[in-house]
Amino acid sequence: MSTKIPNRSEVPESDKWNLSSIYKSNDEWEAALKELPALTEKVVSFKGKLSSSSKTLLEALKALEAAELKMETVYHYASLQHEADEDDSLATDRDGRAMMAYTEMQSALSFMDPELLAIPEETLRTWISEPEYKDYKKYVEKLLHFNKYTLSEKEERILSLQMQPGQTPSNAFSVLENVDLNKQFGTVNVEGEEKPLTQTTFTTLLKNQDRKVRETAYKQFYKKFEDFQNVISALYAGSVNQDVFSMRARGYDSSLHHALYGNKVPLSVYHNLIDCVHKNLGTLHEYYSLRKKILGLSELRHYDVYVPLVKSVAMHHTYEESVEICRNALAPLGKEYTDRLCNGLLNGWADRYENVGKRSGAFSSGAYIGDPYILLNYDEDDIRDVFTMAHEGGHSMHSWYSVHNNPFLSYDYTIFEAEVASTFNEELVFEYLLKNAKTEDEKKYLLAMRADDILATLHRQTMFAEFELKTHEFVENGTPLTAELLRKTYRELLELYFGPEMHFEENSDMEGLRIPHFYTAFYVYKYATGISAALALAKRVTTGGEKERNDYFEFLKSGGSRYPIESLRVAGVDMESTEPVQAACDTFKEIVEQLKKMF
Ligand SMILES: [Zn+2]
Repeated sequence: MSTKIPNRSEVPESDKWNLSSIYKSNDEWEAALKELPALTEKVVSFKGKLSSSSKTLLEALKALEAAELKMETVYHYASLQHEADEDDSLATDRDGRAMMAYTEMQSALSFMDPELLAIPEETLRTWISEPEYKDYKKYVEKLLHFNKYTLSEKEERILSLQMQPGQTPSNAFSVLENVDLNKQFGTVNVEGEEKPLTQTTFTTLLKNQDRKVRETAYKQFYKKFEDFQNVISALYAGSVNQDVFSMRARGYDSSLHHALYGNKVPLSVYHNLIDCVHKNLGTLHEYYSLRKKILGLSELRHYDVYVPLVKSVAMHHTYEESVEICRNALAPLGKEYTDRLCNGLLNGWADRYENVGKRSGAFSSGAYIGDPYILLNYDEDDIRDVFTMAHEGGHSMHSWYSVHNNPFLSYDYTIFEAEVASTFNEELVFEYLLKNAKTEDEKKYLLAMRADDILATLHRQTMFAEFELKTHEFVENGTPLTAELLRKTYRELLELYFGPEMHFEENSDMEGLRIPHFYTAFYVYKYATGISAALALAKRVTTGGEKERNDYFEFLKSGGSRYPIESLRVAGVDMESTEPVQAACDTFKEIVEQLKKMF
């Protein structure tokens, strides 16, 4: 591959995604955008009439479906074009106009849910049990689930007015962290060159094989956070206070209850995750001892935890070779699955390589109309990108099955389920590459990488989840959050999770004050439960037969028709038990054992 990054216009069509499954041309898109106001008007014409009869409500729901479907399609096309080339001013303009149309439609249609919920529940339940409501029943039922905690119209209005100011802590933290602080971290000397230390380079610098680089980056970074510890603590306290305010205003039992209620996730899932990871911390501590040994350190310090244990092994795979790896690795899912995915990857689903103006990283983006597209920045020399392809491919296939088996208003799956289908594929690719590794070094590299991936998703996110639970409980019990309390709480968790081998710096606990996800409380646990379910299901499908495979497909087809715990139960894992988390911990243990034998 050439080293110069091409402009979008220089990229051959065969390397770009083919968006014609959504719209054939930009003109067709313009025409669709123009249809949106009339579709919105049609829904608005039902305002004040929803309760008049079952037939009227049904017509209103059909109008809503038509409007939202068109909106989603218009938005999807424009945003994909924008992500592929942010330098394309026409694409940026289309994306901006789609966003504006979206906001306008959202605000015009915001009457719908409250008015619908104002219909007596018994009446609604009778109406939606009629056969013509088949495609709308799930949608209404999911709204009804919130009935218990929905307040009067007046109160709801006050709460909705408070939503935007309630975002202040999170917005302020984001600006502080990404703009103001980002300019103040200074530089780090890397091989004689001064490199800027920023939010982005921090993670890369911590992976540097030169320990001095890691140490300097780490100390400089957290020192800056420490300088601002009081304001950051106040912001985070503001965010937690806001969560506690919302839960109290609506009458939930706790902030955790509030956060889990929408997806009907029992509290036991959260607590089981923490308890089970605690029981298995011994393996994590063993892993850190091993890390110390492999790195040849007399003392393992917190800035030594991200440097790869094995220096990169040269492994080269063209894009097409990667697709074949996915085809072989995912064979346990059957030919229909692998054919569809690989065909997609080779014929227009994926935007393959980096170009100027293209968003970094990777994502899968599915919608009801059109193919489930994948943005990649595929690098032939980075083995991780084989995993990324399988990961995003897993999301896309999940979207494909959801779209093809559900009506529009209830096709989309939850975040809780999303990472299962993607991580499942990663696990299969890992097994396959490990089995087919040509050298001992390749094997070591793959195992070490896998151990780091699992611990980053399972153990680390569980530690975060535990921190969030504690901070919310403090406020709910009347203890104000101060910098001192937050740091002490986080430090205790660091010591518990990393174990006796780890040496912390005086300000290592500042890490707890720099995680942006904490401003969306009770979100990160889903990474940990997701990987647990995925590892358990991968084992179940690869060691099982047709039944186990079919169960997994039932899950992929669930879309938004079931709540996540239920859809995973259909697949064969019970997230209410500790089994899947224990299975994930066991997988981690197996990898650590193998690594121990190799070093
Ligand atoms: Zn993902």
